[in-house]
Amino acid sequence: MSLEIRQFLMGSDNFGVLVHDSETGATASIDAGDEQPILQALAQTGWRLTDILVTHHHDDHIAALASLHHKFGARIVAAGADSHRIPHIDLAVKEGDEFTVGTLKFGVFDTPGHTVGHIAYHLPKQKVLFAGDTLFSLGCGRLFEGSAEQMYHSLQKLARLPAETALYCGHEYTLSNGRFAMKVDPSNKALAARMHDVETLRAQGQFTLPSTIGRECDTNPFLRADQPDIAKTIGMEGQPAVAVFAKLREMKNKA
Ligand code: ZN
Ligand code: FE
Repeated sequence: MSLEIRQFLMGSDNFGVLVHDSETGATASIDAGDEQPILQALAQTGWRLTDILVTHHHDDHIAALASLHHKFGARIVAAGADSHRIPHIDLAVKEGDEFTVGTLKFGVFDTPGHTVGHIAYHLPKQKVLFAGDTLFSLGCGRLFEGSAEQMYHSLQKLARLPAETALYCGHEYTLSNGRFAMKVDPSNKALAARMHDVETLRAQGQFTLPSTIGRECDTNPFLRADQPDIAKTIGMEGQPAVAVFAKLREMKNKA
C-alpha cells in the first residue's frame, strides 16, 4: 500500500488531513485553513507538501493557501467554478475529472450545497473520500449558498459510493450532530450504538473520523430522509425525501 493518511485538528474543530504516497513521496493537504498545524504535521511525518486539494472557498479551508503555495511551491487544485474566489489555482477541476498526486489517482465530484462551487475528492482504488463540508459524520454542511435540492443530490451522489469507503471531512462535529440525529431518528439502533461509540471516543479525546459511507447511510439522518420513520417523527409523513431533507436541515439550524 502506498497510501498513508495523517489526520489532525486545526483550531477547535477543523480537520487537517495529509495524504501521502509513500512510493513517490508526494503529499497532498486536503484544504489549508491554518498554516501552523499543517507545518507541524509535515514536520512530524517528515513528508514534503506537493499539493493542496481545496474543497471550497471558506476561509477556514483556504486561509493558509497562499503562504503554503509560496513556501513549498505546492500545486493548488480547486474547482474551476470558484477561480474568482480561490487564489492561485494551478489545476482547475470539475465533476468527473481525474488527476494524480504521485501514484494516487484522484477523482472529483461536484457537491454543491454548502457552497455552489464545493467539490469532493475521491480515491476510487483505495476507497477513500474527502468530503469537505458536504457530508459530516451524522450530519451535513449548512446551506450557505446552494439549495436544499442541490445539497440533497450532492449527498446522494456520495452515498452511492461503496459502503466500505472511508469518509474524511472538514470538521469534528459528530457529537453535536449525533444529539440532533437521536431526536429525529430515535428508534434507529445503529445510530444509538454509534452515539455510544462517539461519546466514548470524544471523552478519550479521540477523533470520530474517518467514518465510512456504509455507517453514514445507516445512521446519518441527512442520508436517510427517505425513511418513513424519520418523516413521521418530524411531521413530514408521506412527503418526498428532498422535502424531508430540507426540513431536517432547517431544524438542525435551529437546534
Ligand atoms: Zn465551509
Ligand atoms: Fe468549514
